[in-house]
Amino acid sequence: MSLRLFECTAHQIKAKILSKEIRASDFIKIVFDRIKSLEPNIQAFITINEDEAIKKAIEIDKKIESNENVGLLAGLPVAVKDNICTKNLYTTCASKILETFIPPYDAFVVKRLREEDAIIVGKTNLDEFAMGSSTENSGLKITRNPWNLECVPGGSSGGSAAAVAADLSILALGSETGGSVRQPAALCGVVGIKPTYGRVSRYGLVAFGSSLDQVGTVSKDVRDAALLLRVIAGYDLHDSTSANVPVPDYLDRIDSGVDGLRIGIPKEYFTDAFNADVYKALKDALKIYERLGAQVVDISLPHTEYAVAVYYIVANAEASSNLARYDGVRYGYRTSKPNGIIDMYCRTRSEGFGNEVKRRIMLGNYVLSSGYYDAYYLKASKVRNLIKIDFDVAFEKVDCIICPTSPVPAFKIGERANNPLEMYLSDIYTIPANLAGIPGISIPCGFSKEGLPIGMQILGKHFEEKKLLQIAYAFERETDFHVKKPVLKISSM
Ligand code: GLN
Repeated sequence: MSLRLFECTAHQIKAKILSKEIRASDFIKIVFDRIKSLEPNIQAFITINEDEAIKKAIEIDKKIESNENVGLLAGLPVAVKDNICTKNLYTTCASKILETFIPPYDAFVVKRLREEDAIIVGKTNLDEFAMGSSTENSGLKITRNPWNLECVPGGSSGGSAAAVAADLSILALGSETGGSVRQPAALCGVVGIKPTYGRVSRYGLVAFGSSLDQVGTVSKDVRDAALLLRVIAGYDLHDSTSANVPVPDYLDRIDSGVDGLRIGIPKEYFTDAFNADVYKALKDALKIYERLGAQVVDISLPHTEYAVAVYYIVANAEASSNLARYDGVRYGYRTSKPNGIIDMYCRTRSEGFGNEVKRRIMLGNYVLSSGYYDAYYLKASKVRNLIKIDFDVAFEKVDCIICPTSPVPAFKIGERANNPLEMYLSDIYTIPANLAGIPGISIPCGFSKEGLPIGMQILGKHFEEKKLLQIAYAFERETDFHVKKPVLKISSM
């Protein structure tokens, strides 16, 4: 069966554009037609960047016509999560407080996209300031899961994952603090990478938890993830935590296979606590790896049970400090007719932030306050180190760790919205990697009885993204979960 053009991967479209089988400007029109017909149902985007995208596509066509060199992402549509700054294009963080904010500069990753001739199609919806696991905390709109419009797409990069899953974009960027790329990728049946902390510059990524935040990739398959990661990774002087480590060609020898590799299965993750369909999909996936020559090894990550608690202390502490800058003075929303400066601060922040953001600012301030700092923040930082050591010890024995990305497939919109604790548990399998700073990838590995996608997570040592991509690709080559598409009805505008 031949694919419709918007269903193609980045590699397939790139080949067609470079061989002049299709022009970038014709392809981008197809993409915007697709967006116009499906966006009323999916609501993946906050801003659509059609005019600039068409201009850029025409420029790329001219370069190709005149046989000039073009970038690695020539003519490829990329959707960018709306907490990543784009020059002259709204960057709202899905918050009322930044609803009218237009950054005067590009984030490092956006600059890299432009340098490699990508086309930015729009800015995608998220949980406000990336705080959430379902995109329901967006202050602006609710995004729906393309596989079932009554379900959440996951979060906080739910807009990016839904956009790629519904073929509204070929590639997307998301951001991770505790799982916000991998978890929505799993729930939408696409591929998501959270790189090693420091691998990708945070310059221009709106700060949430600075010691955890990373920009990540969303794509239709593993090879596209390798391509996009290569473009955004690398050292940047503007981010003091950026690592000066050479960026390999992640596509080179991506087909090396897994023969002889050792895969660790953490006993703490494989309990009967998670959904039976997820359990079965993971077990089947491990059988495929064994058939391909990998050895499955039982391991232990003994401090796993503390990860969620530690994360919500560290992330909220950092968030409470990072979000202090939204005070109505320098940029963003300001309340009308305040009664003096204190009233201006209070009302601006009360009116501008949503409930989840306020909850986190309060929790964060509490754990940092004098008298509680040692009991909460300092203690959490120490336990965070133990979690990191768990991984160091495990990686002495194994090449990677495999576990579910999310304990459950996509849940219904509204189902968890009033229970923050249950929502926080959505990230139980993704958060440890952020605390330890290690890379992780989520790839499709099955479907639930209801036909919802299931994701498998592969974790590796710091800076071993290349190995993770090889391991992920070995599975992808053997299976067809990643090529399955949701059935979407075209809606009229
Ligand atoms: N869901 C987690 C949270 O709510 C992670 C968010 C993220 O990774 N940005 O904080």
